[in-house]
Amino acid sequence: MTSAPVMRLPPLTDCPWPDCGQPALIAVLVSLPGEPPRLAWPVGCYCVGHAVIVGIATQVHHGGDLWYGPRSLTTCYHDAARQALQ
Ligand SMILES: [Zn+2]
Repeated sequence: MTSAPVMRLPPLTDCPWPDCGQPALIAVLVSLPGEPPRLAWPVGCYCVGHAVIVGIATQVHHGGDLWYGPRSLTTCYHDAARQALQ
């Protein structure tokens, strides 16, 4: 019997929003204007409520289309998220 490939989820992280502490379940991505969605840039992973707030803030700064997905969709780049919000 051969073993099936195992999808490994990244370790569960907390929402990076200050003083939030809830599990970061939602990945936020934003596509660059004029680029196809497959090049969507991973903003980061947040709890449900903060994912919406971060997504809107990112869109205001960068334009493009917002994408939300399960945390397993992308690696969470919290450093990138901080840069996006500066
Ligand atoms: Zn949060």
